[in-house]
Amino acid sequence: MSAVFRAAQLCQQVQTDMVQTDAVEKADRSPVTVADFGSQALICQAIGEAFPEDVIVAEEDSQALQENPQLMQRVTGYVDSFAAAIPSTQTVCDWIDRGGGEVGERFWTLDPIDGTKGFLRGDQYAIALALIVNGEVKLGVLGCPNLPQKLDDPQAQRGCLFVAERDKGTQMLPLDGQDSERIHISEATHRFAESVESTHSDLDTHAQIAQQVGIIDPPIRMDGQGKYGVLARGEASVYIRLPNPATPDYRECIWDHAAGMIVVEEAGGVVTDVDGQALDFSQGRRMTGNRGILATNGKLHPQLLECISSQSPLAVD
Ligand code: AMP
Ligand code: MG
Repeated sequence: MSAVFRAAQLCQQVQTDMVQTDAVEKADRSPVTVADFGSQALICQAIGEAFPEDVIVAEEDSQALQENPQLMQRVTGYVDSFAAAIPSTQTVCDWIDRGGGEVGERFWTLDPIDGTKGFLRGDQYAIALALIVNGEVKLGVLGCPNLPQKLDDPQAQRGCLFVAERDKGTQMLPLDGQDSERIHISEATHRFAESVESTHSDLDTHAQIAQQVGIIDPPIRMDGQGKYGVLARGEASVYIRLPNPATPDYRECIWDHAAGMIVVEEAGGVVTDVDGQALDFSQGRRMTGNRGILATNGKLHPQLLECISSQSPLAVD
């Protein structure tokens, strides 16, 4: 938890003094920043120290840094400021590459910045870490540095940490370090949460489904796994992620959902894919056996699955 906390501080610092060259494009054209690398280095170092035998499956690797000395220097500078020990450039790369493990019996999965596009816009993003043992998520930590402690209160402090342990509930802590509180889903039917990026899901169909279940309030659009957090604390009743019609074969990455899933489940909610299948984190870096995501307060789950199956062209086959 303290590693995610430090990573959150690093990300906030980078977001404050970000320069254009701090972001580069990956081979799949998605962005990656100094903060993604710095956050991954800090968290992998901490796990490596606490659990030297443990495998980490994380989103980034150090290749882009090795090819870009300017970026490398920026990352090392930030990691220097937030790490317990002062690392060399090579050490920072080694820490990042601890995240290159394989999915197995026991492993951690990490998204050092989930919602990098939101981070670059100055909006929402999350640092997401989960421990998976025998296919079951046992622990999830979600750091959301820009998330207001109450969505509807413009005066609310920003910065929340969600922590969920299997069978022990979900806690929310303010990032500025006050007491934690146990959070719960709400049984009431109110807003949907969904991605900001229109290519990551099917926003038009979401709107039709919301109408079918009588939701009239506009959706909460948010980058990264903060969506699971707002569902877990009762501000949304659904987080829906129908596959975008342009990328029907897209399969979700494990680090984009493992921490969020347990945060919602331990707050009393239900998480499956859009076909009602349990999420399977045992297949590799992507959930090859699942399509999209449906997370709800539990009460709405059966009705939503029914709406989805009647919308889906696959249901006709
Ligand atoms: P969000 O902020 O909820 O949209 O989630 C961001 C994540 O969406 C990124 O970490 C990507 O892994 C993932 N992503 C990228 N392309 C797609 C796609 N076509 N469909 C669904 N998710 C995607
Ligand atoms: Mg992500």
